[in-house]
Amino acid sequence: MDNSFITFTIPKQKTIALIAHDGKKKELIDWCEANKDILRHHFLCGTGTTARLVAEKTGLPVKAYNSGPLGGDQQIGAKIVEGLINFVVFFSDPLEAQPHDPDVKALLRIAQVYDIPIANNKATADFMVHSSLMSEEYEHKVINFRQNVADRVSEQSRQM
Ligand code: PGA
Repeated sequence: MDNSFITFTIPKQKTIALIAHDGKKKELIDWCEANKDILRHHFLCGTGTTARLVAEKTGLPVKAYNSGPLGGDQQIGAKIVEGLINFVVFFSDPLEAQPHDPDVKALLRIAQVYDIPIANNKATADFMVHSSLMSEEYEHKVINFRQNVADRVSEQSRQM
């Protein structure tokens, strides 16, 4: 039996992380306002400044992590690893260098590892929130981290 993957479920009510670089914050706030009726059925969180602004401007409740450059992207990445965030809308700015670029890259990578839907522009976010899967459970296969560690431990200890 192949134990490399296990089945995880993204529930009907998703935990959505919202992140926007400064040049994209208005676009994300406008997007949240336009999709308020969908977003209000889910749990929202985000990096510090984005979360505060979305909450203030739209009235939606948004749990705030640290500001992105101060580790907020890494906190969101850690929650993905723990299975506590399962949907990401991240309007990154392709025209502006970011001091925390390695963190941004790490977040994109970890979302890919855990097969988490992640939109990095408005069109993708629109297609995602208007998908019928938004109001359904979604089962997907994710790397079996316990099996992965067990395999690596036995492989490494064989070489010692
Ligand atoms: P911010 O962080 O919401 O605190 O501005 C976003 C980011 O730059 O990652």
